[in-house]
Amino acid sequence: MRRGGDGSGLARAVVEVQSVADIQGVLKVARKYHLPVIPQTTATSTVIGSDGIAGGLILSTRKMAQILEISKDDSLAVVQPGVVNGDLDQAARKQGLFYAPDPASKPFSSIGGNVSTNAGGMSTVRYGATKDNVLGLKVVLADGRKVTLGGRTLKQAFGYDLTQLFVGAEGTLGIVYEITVKLMPIPLGTSIMGLAFFKDMAQLAQGVTAIRMSGVYPTMLEALDGNTIGALDKYEKTHYADKSGAMLIFRLDGSSDANIQVLKDLLAKYDAQDVQVTADEDEQAQLIQLRRDMLPAVFAGQNHLMEDMALPLSQLAPMMAYIQQVGHDLGVTIYTAGHAGDGNVHPTLVWPKDQPEVPGAVLEALRRIFWKTLELGGTISGEHAVGMMKNQWNQPELDDNVDYLQHQLKTLLDPMNLLNPKRKIN
Ligand SMILES: Cc1cc2nc3c(=O)[nH]c(=O)nc-3n(C[C@H](O)[C@H](O)[C@H](O)COP(=O)(O)OP(=O)(O)OC[C@H]3O[C@@H](n4cnc5c(N)ncnc54)[C@H](O)[C@@H]3O)c2cc1C
Repeated sequence: MRRGGDGSGLARAVVEVQSVADIQGVLKVARKYHLPVIPQTTATSTVIGSDGIAGGLILSTRKMAQILEISKDDSLAVVQPGVVNGDLDQAARKQGLFYAPDPASKPFSSIGGNVSTNAGGMSTVRYGATKDNVLGLKVVLADGRKVTLGGRTLKQAFGYDLTQLFVGAEGTLGIVYEITVKLMPIPLGTSIMGLAFFKDMAQLAQGVTAIRMSGVYPTMLEALDGNTIGALDKYEKTHYADKSGAMLIFRLDGSSDANIQVLKDLLAKYDAQDVQVTADEDEQAQLIQLRRDMLPAVFAGQNHLMEDMALPLSQLAPMMAYIQQVGHDLGVTIYTAGHAGDGNVHPTLVWPKDQPEVPGAVLEALRRIFWKTLELGGTISGEHAVGMMKNQWNQPELDDNVDYLQHQLKTLLDPMNLLNPKRKIN
């Protein structure tokens, strides 16, 4: 997965650090020769966040991959940044706990990268994004100082919340070398998953909002539009597209029969068809796999740009309808899926493989979708972060004062602008 250049040229070197002293050494060289440093762990960023910069040093924390502690009593784990999300989750499960944040890249992306991008996933609707699951961080600053932020407590009200400043900082403020995360006890009771089909995404979004507000606390409410279902059908040899224009994959963990009934009633109220519910673990794993297969199914044989907006829940239905309209108006094929339960929408805009340049119509569609997102009170980065793909949108998304404050913070912590320059902030 390592990517050596972002289009400006190749990085000068990749340094795979294995200790804090190694990190400090790389930063010392970078300060001496004024070299950009690009923190990278498993390099799965979708926003050109961890690719090399011409002449810079890729500082990879991939090999700092030890789970240092799993504490059942404190319900937490202490890990190095290179630990893969899924590996931590599996290790925790052996002790009756689990690590909640579950990006689709869970089997291969790192906790260090997840923290630095504030990754989300399917279970964010129930357990929050990465930021809600980080208790403490150890960081090496650009000048080589080590700082310990937060700690092992579930509550913490002392000083400014600098831990959260570094969550989602995309490697622009320091190098994260140790992370303390919350672990959750595995819920008791039955977990169910299921499928439901709707006329279109706007109607699905209305159903999702009602379920979200019903008090049943779903752990997954994933939406796929008709185009995406069609792509999945081709990939999986299924026939879901015959049924409808939108599919919902849902999950309730440790739920009572009464809650399951509330969910079913709401699905009926919002005209969901062919509702299927299963408590069987193998069938549930197949449904999760179906959701994960969405990306390869959509990307197959086409050039693509996958976007990542988050909307206030009440604006999800209008946004879904708007995306469909834009695709229609501009003749652009758009596959829309998303973590509908938390308002996160991923439209993927595609164009033919033999056309290397992004077509003007695709760029125009994106521009319209971004402006509409902001108009509806949303954000154009729900979970994938900013990187180099979106920092030209900082001013429309943030107001001038906030944009300026971001630059002041960056100057304070990284006065030589060595850490991941040209990413996140302009
Ligand atoms: C198939 C696929 C599915 C995906 N699904 C999701 C999803 O559902 N939800 C989601 O949120 N994302 C998703 N992503 C995006 C990506 O996996 C996440 O952004 C992930 O958090 C990146 O982790 P990484 O270890 O690969 O980080 P990298 O790509 O290595 O780095 C990401 C950012 O973190 C910084 N960084 C890395 N390590 C450190 C460190 N030790 N200290 C300081 N900064 C550091 C980098 O400089 C960069 O800015 C997906 C990606 C792919 C390819």
